[in-house]
Amino acid sequence: MLSEEVKKMRLQHMSLVPTEGACKFCGQITAIEVPEDWLDEEKNEYATEMCKCPEADWYRLNKLKKEKGRKRVRSLFERDQSDAVKSFLQAAVELIADEDISSITVKIDDVTKADIKTGSKGGIRVERTDTTKQMEE
Ligand SMILES: [Zn+2]
Repeated sequence: MLSEEVKKMRLQHMSLVPTEGACKFCGQITAIEVPEDWLDEEKNEYATEMCKCPEADWYRLNKLKKEKGRKRVRSLFERDQSDAVKSFLQAAVELIADEDISSITVKIDDVTKADIKTGSKGGIRVERTDTTKQMEE
């Protein structure tokens, strides 16, 4: 979330410039303080995060949900999966948060499986299953 980034910058006493941004949904202009190098797109994104209209509310919650889901993918698959696998699973998180798909099961290899879906509390649930196989032939 950009609002969290700005909060951190403020705590670190980084210099911010006063400007304004427009909510992507209702167009409301909000006075904001952001780093000098931010583009209009980032300013508007930040203003949208700060806006109180219902669409922005929904957008903010959804964005938070995606960020948490992506973080879960990172923490569960960081140690042994490639960037390609992680970005695929993170893309799946986005689709599930946007309700384009309801769940996905990915068989990564013979041992590891990923299950991603909306959890009972509305967040993105990421599950990793590792099975060990023993076989003699
Ligand atoms: Zn708005």
